[in-house]
Amino acid sequence: MSNMRQEAINHINSRPADVRDYGNKKITEIFASNVFSGKVVREYLSDAAFKSLSHSIKNGSKIDRAMADQIASGLKAWAMDRGVTHFTHWFQPLTGTTAEKHDSFFTLKSDGSALELFDADALIQQEPDASSFPNGGIRATFEARGYTAWDPSSHPFIMETAHGKTLCIPTIFISYSGESLDTKTPLLRSVDALNKAAIDVCHYFDKNVTKVTATLGWEQEYFVIDEALANARPDISMTGRTLFGHAPAKGQQLEDHYFGSIPERVFAFMQDYEQESYKLGIPLRTRHNEVAPGQFECAPIFEECNIAVDHNILLMDVMARVAKRHKLAVLFHEKPFAGVNGSGKHNNWSLATDTGVNLLAPGKTPRTNLMFLTFFVNTIKAVHDHADLLRGAIASSTNDHRLGANEAPPAIISIFIGDYLTKVLNEVESRVTGKFTEQDEALLKLDIHKNIPELIMDNTDRNRTSPFAFTGNKFEFRAVGSSANCAQSMTVLNTIMAQTLITFKSDVDALVKKGEKKEVAVMQILRKYISGSKKILFEGDNYSEEWAKEAKKRGLNNFKDTPRALDVFGRKEVKALFAKMGIFNETESDARHEIQLEEYIKKVQIEARMMGYIASNFILPSAIQYQNRLIQNIKGMKDIGLKPESYRSQKDIVTQMSIHINAVSDNVEKMIEERKKVNAIADTHKRAYAYCDKIKPFFDVIRYNADKLELMVDDSMWQLPKYRELLYMR
Ligand code: ADP
Ligand code: MG
Repeated sequence: MSNMRQEAINHINSRPADVRDYGNKKITEIFASNVFSGKVVREYLSDAAFKSLSHSIKNGSKIDRAMADQIASGLKAWAMDRGVTHFTHWFQPLTGTTAEKHDSFFTLKSDGSALELFDADALIQQEPDASSFPNGGIRATFEARGYTAWDPSSHPFIMETAHGKTLCIPTIFISYSGESLDTKTPLLRSVDALNKAAIDVCHYFDKNVTKVTATLGWEQEYFVIDEALANARPDISMTGRTLFGHAPAKGQQLEDHYFGSIPERVFAFMQDYEQESYKLGIPLRTRHNEVAPGQFECAPIFEECNIAVDHNILLMDVMARVAKRHKLAVLFHEKPFAGVNGSGKHNNWSLATDTGVNLLAPGKTPRTNLMFLTFFVNTIKAVHDHADLLRGAIASSTNDHRLGANEAPPAIISIFIGDYLTKVLNEVESRVTGKFTEQDEALLKLDIHKNIPELIMDNTDRNRTSPFAFTGNKFEFRAVGSSANCAQSMTVLNTIMAQTLITFKSDVDALVKKGEKKEVAVMQILRKYISGSKKILFEGDNYSEEWAKEAKKRGLNNFKDTPRALDVFGRKEVKALFAKMGIFNETESDARHEIQLEEYIKKVQIEARMMGYIASNFILPSAIQYQNRLIQNIKGMKDIGLKPESYRSQKDIVTQMSIHINAVSDNVEKMIEERKKVNAIADTHKRAYAYCDKIKPFFDVIRYNADKLELMVDDSMWQLPKYRELLYMR
């Protein structure tokens, strides 16, 4: 008997690693060769156009029409010299992926002659047919217009696919009335807000700072499985994760994968996507196995937040396409396999000044130390004051499966800072008194930088269980999901930091106005912030039961599912914060909340449908077929006159299988009935809660019984590739 599973397994055995020849080129030779940046910009643009573009990239200044025309024409020349025929505005709508609509340079003049055209209009603004992107009710259908607008701060690039080469212009996506419909617009606004707030605070310490950028270095975790096996699992194809499947005899308990060598087929895939990424200017640097079998990670050198976000989403796209060439499937889902380590996207975040200082790196002098301490403590306060908002920023139906399960941070937001800095903060708190003393003067001279490196070197001190950890010169937000667009979490982080710095400045200024010395005022306010934010600091094991209890005592929230985590976006003070910082107006806030709830509903709904489909069309037929075979066997034994004792086991299995078959079948039916009720709930918010509380619980019981059947049915009759095959065969 043959089924897709068997065929897939046969395929794998004849698939060698697809090692390609990259002509032994150094990375520096191909890096950014498909990006309109650096030398080529000079080469293709006039002096004036080059200056205008550079200035806009640095300061966000407007580019006038004439200049834009010149830039467009230079860009077209550059692209056409590289065989590009089409261009597209590349944007990140609220679907979590990227969108593009390709137009040809080719056009016809009024006299009918052909021409390759790309002017300022085409560069600056396009009107994609936007009615089918999520908008949360912002745009009434009669004016379903949205605009994409050029973001000069992110370089145009050429995407090479099997179909040809396309010039991609990174853009924002906004509605006709100006509301943002994407993830980039609010990110850029938050970068701007943070820049302004951080410059002001920097000026306490260094008047030369004129720009502060948020920096981001993400670490991307993912699974790789064989394409044929993935295709033989409708749940993986449609939802990105396995809705069924019994744990394999060998899971990750041996922990031999993490240190093991990378399998050859995967290695060839990695080399291939790295090559493609280098051409696109994505500065990948690290690749390695992850904890779970079949799980891997890559990480680039950090970049400016906006660029890093673009590069991450671009890389995910590249990886998915390159995987196909290698007959592999890459899974970005946060929890593709139950009981196995999930995938995250650690967001390493810091702040850099245009004077070359990392504001979260301890300084070498008392003055720069105080600057470090200021930004360090302000980050802690920001996370303390807005922990729920950070939780909301990483909420998704897919991340729900990961947070708090198998070596993933819990849904409780807390910060790890390590022994040494804990001591420093305690000292500041206990020694800085109302009046400034000589003692405080001594404290100001704290040589933090000399001790910090020890902290970094000491790996035992690097708490890997924390959702938000200080790692020597940056914070690492580890609760972000592997499939997420980093923009959401970074927008929130930048925003709450901006707001906290603004408050800090006004607090310090108030003391200075009263006649306090500036440094003293800074110290006093830091002390106040440390005292007020302590409950967010946690150095212990975040995976433990005790922490969940302790966190509850401290009053830290533990929102275990997305609808509850998203409620924060409906809070009045949160909407006021976003509005005040210029990130979202109230309409945009409400729209986003609505869109995320809708996305949650859709995803759970699709999973519920797939669950019913797979149970009825794959699992029950295999089980019944095998059960029939046992029944035939029993009948035969009876026919030849054997005693019931001889077919006792067969009968037991038949009976046991009936219990599980009925449980699967009954619960699928009940779930369908329940879904009908839930779908009738008009209010999105209530419907999302109902999907979470009334529909999702069916998943566990259906799966439990189906997985039991997997253990009973003859292996050759089972149609769905098993965990062992998905995780170990390549
Ligand atoms: P690991 O956490 O795996 O030990 P590293 O700490 O070296 O690895 O770096 C992890 C990520 O942090 C990398 O992507 C790196 O570029 C990024 N990173 C390092 N410094 C900064 C910074 N100042 N701002 C943002 N990201 C940074
Ligand atoms: Mg790290």
